[in-house]
Amino acid sequence: MQLEFYGAAGEVTGSCHVLRAADRQILLDCGMIQGGRRDEARNHDPFPFRVSDIDAVVLSHSHIDHSGRLPLLVRHGYQGPIYAHYASRDLCEILLQDSAQLSERDARTENRRRERKGLPAVAPLYTRQHARAVIRLAKGLHYRSATEILPGITLTLHDAGHIMGSAIVELSLIEDGERHTLVFSGDLGPRGAPILHDPAVPEHADTVIMESTYGDRAHRSRDATVQELGEIIRSAERDRGNILIPAFAIGRSQEVLYMLGKHYDEWDLDRWHIFLDSPMAIDASEVYWNYSHLYDDEATMLRHRINEMPRLRNLHLTETVEESRVINRVRNGAIVIAGSGMCNGGRIVHHLKHNLWRRECHVVIVGYQAAGSLGRQLVDGRQFVRIQGEAIKVNAQIHTIGGLSAHGDQNDLLHWYGAFANRPRVFLVHGESETSDTLRELIGRRFGAVATVAQTGQVIDLLASSRRGRERRRPVPRPAKN
Ligand SMILES: [Zn+2]
Ligand SMILES: [Zn+2]
Repeated sequence: MQLEFYGAAGEVTGSCHVLRAADRQILLDCGMIQGGRRDEARNHDPFPFRVSDIDAVVLSHSHIDHSGRLPLLVRHGYQGPIYAHYASRDLCEILLQDSAQLSERDARTENRRRERKGLPAVAPLYTRQHARAVIRLAKGLHYRSATEILPGITLTLHDAGHIMGSAIVELSLIEDGERHTLVFSGDLGPRGAPILHDPAVPEHADTVIMESTYGDRAHRSRDATVQELGEIIRSAERDRGNILIPAFAIGRSQEVLYMLGKHYDEWDLDRWHIFLDSPMAIDASEVYWNYSHLYDDEATMLRHRINEMPRLRNLHLTETVEESRVINRVRNGAIVIAGSGMCNGGRIVHHLKHNLWRRECHVVIVGYQAAGSLGRQLVDGRQFVRIQGEAIKVNAQIHTIGGLSAHGDQNDLLHWYGAFANRPRVFLVHGESETSDTLRELIGRRFGAVATVAQTGQVIDLLASSRRGRERRRPVPRPAKN
């Protein structure tokens, strides 16, 4: 019984681990590496395991850093089952199509360049066809229903409260008469976040793999964040301007809509036109509405009260580019939620071009802005930015509101681990090395538990490690030919 870490070990993205038990191999997540150009080039590397050896895939949730290389797995011949929550399957359908379209576009751009140089053409990382094949292989599961996916291997998904359909993966393994329970946290939501339940706590585990994205910090309080948003809306109303909210299509857009719905009367939102200007966010919102039975108590109550929450009275869903362009003519009274979340592309770019130079407009940054992105330039207080080759003066008021993270902070992570009474051995993944290390130390000190920051290529003998708290390391394996 072995566990091998391949991705999101010592880094945040590219979640991917291999479990060997009962003579079978299971892949936990198959995520894309995200970041700079050099990091992303690693997505083209061969898988460090033999694809034909994988018997089943278990997907914790739909985010690209967990699901993004599934179409590549299929391209390399994988035809087995992919287990995920039903909502994750639906969201993957949206996300992987988009991701495939991007890789087809990248390949086209690259090939035009190569053709001019007389170089041979390259194939896209994967195509929409591969993405569709993933959805055909996906097997939907409900939370809390134990399913024997292979002889001696039983899978149970629990609500992780991170995005719709996100799951904590519990695997009960039997090998040579010995039982071992492995719990993989996936990405854990913060406690008290809107719409979704708080992360569930499986009762028992022998080994835990836990995310550690914010293992070294505490989030700003959500109440303060909500209050801040209310104040921005009031001052934009006084200024007679528009409000732009760049937001990721899945999760953050729905959360912003939810806050607007919850405080609709208090913030006088009847005076505004609210635009959800992103086909992907519209599709993702549909998935959120379809799974309203998974809402927490407050969201369920609001949904009954406001009817079809978060479908607000004055919400415009703009599907086409033409509809999106029409918003440019609105001089005041528009709240525009559009992607991309970091303002690097998508429809938010043309809204910024038409509003940034206007003193009466407001931009509300609700998510992480990577270095180098247009969003980051705004957060950093640049006087001028370049949009579509044009220098634009930044006169609009830029607000950065924290406290909307989809990940638990240090306290949330400690709370979640602390609920395992037997203090199982824990491997920390999905965090930058120093962040994970801070959490490792804290878990050791507070709970007296054995915590380890997972390393790429590290192999753990599960039975030996739970018996004697021992692990062995072996060098990073040479990539197998796929
Ligand atoms: Zn995630
Ligand atoms: Zn993640």
